[in-house]
Amino acid sequence: MEVLSVASEAYPLVKTGGLADVAGALPAALRTEGVRLRTLLPGYPAVTASLADGETLWRAADLFGGAATIVAGTAAGLELLVLDAPHLFARSGNPYLGPDGRDWPDNALRFAALARVGAWLAQGLLASWHPACVHAHDWQAALLAAYLHYDGTAHSPCVLTVHNLAFQGVFPPSLLPALGLPAASFALIGVEYFGNIGFLKAGLLFADRITTVSPTYAAEIRTPADGMALDGLLRGRGAAVSGILNGIDCEVWNPAGDKLLPARYDETRLAARGANRQALQARFALAADGTAPLFAVISRLTLQKGMDLVLEALAVLLAEGGQLAVLGTGDGAMEQAFRDAARRHPGRVGCVIGYDEAVAHLMQGGADALLVPSRFEPCGLTQLCALRYGTVPVVARVGGLADTVIDASPVALAAGVATGVQFAPVATEMLEEAIRRAAALHRAPAEWRRMQRNGMATDVSWRDPARRYASLYRELTG
Ligand code: ADP
Repeated sequence: MEVLSVASEAYPLVKTGGLADVAGALPAALRTEGVRLRTLLPGYPAVTASLADGETLWRAADLFGGAATIVAGTAAGLELLVLDAPHLFARSGNPYLGPDGRDWPDNALRFAALARVGAWLAQGLLASWHPACVHAHDWQAALLAAYLHYDGTAHSPCVLTVHNLAFQGVFPPSLLPALGLPAASFALIGVEYFGNIGFLKAGLLFADRITTVSPTYAAEIRTPADGMALDGLLRGRGAAVSGILNGIDCEVWNPAGDKLLPARYDETRLAARGANRQALQARFALAADGTAPLFAVISRLTLQKGMDLVLEALAVLLAEGGQLAVLGTGDGAMEQAFRDAARRHPGRVGCVIGYDEAVAHLMQGGADALLVPSRFEPCGLTQLCALRYGTVPVVARVGGLADTVIDASPVALAAGVATGVQFAPVATEMLEEAIRRAAALHRAPAEWRRMQRNGMATDVSWRDPARRYASLYRELTG
């Protein structure tokens, strides 16, 4: 089956978050399911430069203010259709932000153009290739479903995946004509969203199916507490909404073959993690302590990720004899707070402010536990990597964290199936209690090893998710 994926980022070509990981990994995972996924990506400089064998399939003299082409080719193992529209995409750096760190002022047009062309492809724009199904990702591609609806012509069915409901693509109503949408579309049953144009809202309304990246998040976003003003609409879509967990690339994240680790290991050689622990402690200027429970954080430093709770629970973590290593970037005040904590507790708290894949691998290969106290978490990838590396996840019981970690409750411990520690609700005292439980488990080496091995035996690959996406496409296309 031929499927078109429409995304604003795809690993390894362009990445700001989990969306890129998914868009980059799904094509290979779906190949084994008999699905050929071609990806429509904006022609950012990093993308156009990567195309080895580009072939122009379509040209337009004017797409939202300038010339555009679709160039087909492969890059990094991905079969791409690149929307080359220099007036919209020939800008380096972050795909959404200008050099001043703010959204590009024409983001509405830039991503509407991506969605517009995606919709045309679903209607048979190319004589040489007509996808049976279209898979749009997040607000940047969501308007595709609205174009299909208002064009009213025959088209392939459309799945919309929500990677994070917090990002909704909301723009002023004056843009409606420029986006090529009819005046009548500015309505409750349309693209109107609290007096503005809502790209994600429109997609959620008109997509044939909506998926999000975990079953629990799919349920949470249908509640007023977590629905970010879209819960009513989502409840109205009924069974069209479902959750499919993300996987991780088990070649990139493979402790037995990871060249970024000083010592490689598998579930039968967990003692080898000791060398990684030493390198990790050296990298974060932590004391070379062989027994302290070493907690790691690999995260955007934001309120969503509950990083303020980590700062608040630090005293308990230290009182339990723990060490803390933090890798991340984000909110400036939080970055500073972690730097200050490291200064106040030399040898016990260390931080690396930055985005660094190599350090992330070292942390997964050497830390005892990974803290993920997110207030909401659509799926979460770091806890999946942690499971695979025998780092015990300590997580908030929300979204994908709830779905992927088995809490070390007395019954799970007795049954020998626990893989981590969960806490709820998301509050400082609950995180503190979770840290105490994790430290106590760490003092019982047999129990701890059991949890590590259970985690490493968990299937966190794309195999099962790919099967689920393939069956969704098949269901839609009959
Ligand atoms: P997000 O909400 O940020 O997308 P996810 O857990 O879904 O959170 O995905 C984050 C991905 O980015 C993971 O693969 C994680 O390892 C990685 N990551 C996050 N921050 C950093 C960092 N500072 N350095 C290296 N990798 C990071």
